[in-house]
Amino acid sequence: MSHQAACAYPDRDCAREPYYYKYDLTANDVVMFEPMLTEDQRKLRDDARDFVRSVPRQLILDMDADRVQYPRDFVREAARRKLLGLRFPTNYGGRGLEWKDEVVAIEEVGMLGTSLACAYVMPSIVGEALNAFGTDEQKQQWLRPLVTGEKIAAEALTEPRGGSDFFGTTTEARRENDHYVLRGQKRFIVGAAKSDFFLVYARTNPNGPAHESISAFIVERGPDVEAEYLYGLLGTRGGGTGRLVLHDARVPAKNLVGKENDASEIFYRMMIPERMTSAAGAIGMGRAALEVATRYSDRRKAFGEKIRKFQAVSFKVADSITMLDAARGLVHAAACTVDAGDNPDRSRRLVSEAKKFATDAAWQVINHAMQVMGGIGYTNVYPIERLLRDARLIMIWTGTNEVMDLIIQHEYYREILGARPQGRDAEADAPEADRAEEKVYE
Ligand SMILES: Cc1cc2nc3c(=O)[nH]c(=O)nc-3n(C[C@H](O)[C@H](O)[C@H](O)COP(=O)(O)OP(=O)(O)OC[C@H]3O[C@@H](n4cnc5c(N)ncnc54)[C@H](O)[C@@H]3O)c2cc1C
Repeated sequence: MSHQAACAYPDRDCAREPYYYKYDLTANDVVMFEPMLTEDQRKLRDDARDFVRSVPRQLILDMDADRVQYPRDFVREAARRKLLGLRFPTNYGGRGLEWKDEVVAIEEVGMLGTSLACAYVMPSIVGEALNAFGTDEQKQQWLRPLVTGEKIAAEALTEPRGGSDFFGTTTEARRENDHYVLRGQKRFIVGAAKSDFFLVYARTNPNGPAHESISAFIVERGPDVEAEYLYGLLGTRGGGTGRLVLHDARVPAKNLVGKENDASEIFYRMMIPERMTSAAGAIGMGRAALEVATRYSDRRKAFGEKIRKFQAVSFKVADSITMLDAARGLVHAAACTVDAGDNPDRSRRLVSEAKKFATDAAWQVINHAMQVMGGIGYTNVYPIERLLRDARLIMIWTGTNEVMDLIIQHEYYREILGARPQGRDAEADAPEADRAEEKVYE
């Protein structure tokens, strides 16, 4: 944070508005936790910003208008800059970094909206299953080209029958000699239109308990794999979201990821990148809207005053920045917890909290931004309406925020009721705490 005497905003009257030349802060620095970042993370953040700045505006507009089915060049460019799959080992094209690094880059990419951010993080999500459970041959064949941008992949979990109840999966895979034959349907699959391969979950033991009956497969695009660009989406367009129909698709047995009937472990592992990427990207989206609205509120006048002079406006800005900073704090805490290899149940709780809080926060911040801007915020003169349409989805996908609540309370009850209290017994700090006869629970 360096001070400088010159006006940092050439278009402002800096003599009358000394605020503008006090610091050469950019808005991005104001909202980033600068002192928490290491030198390497700042460099990564700057690399990600360069990339985000380089994205043609026309691509965003074309995707939103459904004129693009998948942003393949965008993914290739991210790969060329070595920004994909940052956590994966260098021999598979990654940088061998950690979650606390990756979330810094994802927040930047999140400023582009959900479609581009989703295309950017998909290698991180599908790659997690391959990196953690794949054989070396699978990693060479699928993980590496994913991280180097040569291949595009999608994850296929949700079925028409439902997404929240993942273990109710009805897509079936039956073994026939050195192949599996997959039959079933998946829906809402981002990238369905253009992906080279899909990570598909299917039931391999129709009569067994759900958690011990599902397997994960790499399914290549082919004649038995019908992938159709289908849905008229409110937002998040241009990402190739479609339906996947498996017509007795023959998949080589060597494309089984991990062990047969053992994919619940893969699913739980994949839910970390699934939810961490939603959470980190949400902060970037909220930031994009807040920056636009904050600048607007300093220019737009009503009743002879800049509207930021009205508390109804500036307090929305205050609420918004507080929510985004709180979200970033939670995302960072979840990232550190996962990186530290902490108890998986606690990591699951924190990752779910981060996903829920950051996506709810982004929605509220973007909604505030629209309110601050009045009618013009509702038009396509500003990008707030697109961000608002995009943001509605992030509370639904990668596990709805109600499902996040389910996990959070479940894990917390388990922690609090399952462990002997380590800290102070707060219940005893009441004058009549000893009245056992008043402590009636039934
Ligand atoms: C544009 C888009 C892109 C997507 N991308 C992908 C993708 O790439 N891959 C993929 O596999 N999926 C993808 N999804 C699917 C997404 O993850 C699911 O839509 C989501 O998990 C919810 O599943 P559902 O739509 O079947 O809703 P349902 O599971 O039917 O849920 C409906 C409602 O019931 C609530 N509910 C359900 N069960 C419970 C419970 N136990 N407790 C409390 N509330 C509950 C939910 O919160 C929700 O409000 C995408 C969806 C969309 C719209």
